[in-house]
Amino acid sequence: MDDSVVEGAEENRGEAQDSERVARLQERLERALREAAQIEVELSRVDGTIRGVPHYSVIEGRAHRLGKQLSREIQQRQMRELTADQSTTCKCPTCGRRCAVRPKERTVQTVDGDSLLTEGACYCAGCRRSFFPTA
Ligand SMILES: [Zn+2]
Repeated sequence: MDDSVVEGAEENRGEAQDSERVARLQERLERALREAAQIEVELSRVDGTIRGVPHYSVIEGRAHRLGKQLSREIQQRQMRELTADQSTTCKCPTCGRRCAVRPKERTVQTVDGDSLLTEGACYCAGCRRSFFPTA
């Protein structure tokens, strides 16, 4: 068997595992979303927001608030993971000194409301200035 065939086979196996993992994760996400929706409906009855037959806008408004909350949660997690994957030092754009990258939280206005996001930030003691690693 020549090497290109072996490499091709491994590549296909990797893709098969990835697509199985994608399917598993999508199924898990669907389940979690259905459960979140069920909990939200139960909560709206218990906390008294939804009583009798409310105007549809009450149902819609509450559902939309939860959607925005989920969006902010995803954005926060994505930023935390990106920050954790960043290199631990960066070069000062002014003097070239290596500076430590530290996670820094800041409130960002997103389309889904204010969100406390984490990002890597550097401070150069020599230049007494802060900057972002990507800058
Ligand atoms: Zn500097």
